[in-house]
Amino acid sequence: MQTLISQRSGILALQRGEDVKTAALHGDELNGVKVLQEAAARYDPAEIAGTLVLLHVVNVPGYLAQQRYIPIYDQDLNRSFPGKERSNTAERIANAVYKRFIEPCDYGLDFHTSTRNRTTMYHARADMTDPEVNRIARAFGANLILSGEADPGSLRSVATRNGTPTITIEMGKAHRFQPPLIKRALDGVESVLAELGVLPGESVDWPGWRRVIDSAKEKTWLRADRGGLVDMRYDHPLVYEGDAVCRISDHFSREETVVRAPFTGLLVGVLQNPVAAPGHPLCHLVGVDGETLAEIEREIETGEFTEEPWA
Ligand SMILES: [Zn+2]
Repeated sequence: MQTLISQRSGILALQRGEDVKTAALHGDELNGVKVLQEAAARYDPAEIAGTLVLLHVVNVPGYLAQQRYIPIYDQDLNRSFPGKERSNTAERIANAVYKRFIEPCDYGLDFHTSTRNRTTMYHARADMTDPEVNRIARAFGANLILSGEADPGSLRSVATRNGTPTITIEMGKAHRFQPPLIKRALDGVESVLAELGVLPGESVDWPGWRRVIDSAKEKTWLRADRGGLVDMRYDHPLVYEGDAVCRISDHFSREETVVRAPFTGLLVGVLQNPVAAPGHPLCHLVGVDGETLAEIEREIETGEFTEEPWA
């Protein structure tokens, strides 16, 4: 899913703060679709200093089939940018969307959720070394930003490289509308619009706390070495090296395997379906240390950190 904000310098005088928003790059990721529906109703084109363009559903075949990938050959639209005019289905869709809607834009916000049976903590992904990406990522106001380049062929990576600084927002679960997350995302959109001068009367909404974590640092998917029933054990998304993250047991509870955190970090994504096969991803752990760790610990102590990180 995605939202794009456009402010192409060539037409800046006429269309200052032109915005494009698009959604459902992955066909089952619905929170962003709702964000765009609400944003469309919220802003009167005559009253904003710019143009808001919303693409609620990009992966139409996946959306209709209620699945992540394009149903034909399971192609991932978000690895197919910028696409080609004469190629497979995914590349053709990507190319048409890219040429018509993304290339003419100056900024992009790309909304995603976790894949089915998992959930992801509300956070932004952005290449914070790019000053314009950094600007919109900060203005969006998510508490957590994972900084790093996006996967090759993803919208974020291609658009950012070609002059449309884009961030990704990861929010919650597939196949659901999650109102607390949708509200936060709408606040984030409004804050970015304020930062870009599209809503001159509004102020940029800085979060009470924010951590930028370099995503090239330690990160891993904790996987189930054996199959069974999964029982999550953590209290906070912050876990310390050696902490029990979850327990996997057989149906008679005769055998148990405790899965421990291999390093101290944040559980950014977690499994929700409690039945795991060997090799199944359980949790996505991103390492934190030093000052960031101390700050998150303080936030947990003061009760800020637990504020609905999963919705
Ligand atoms: Zn996605």
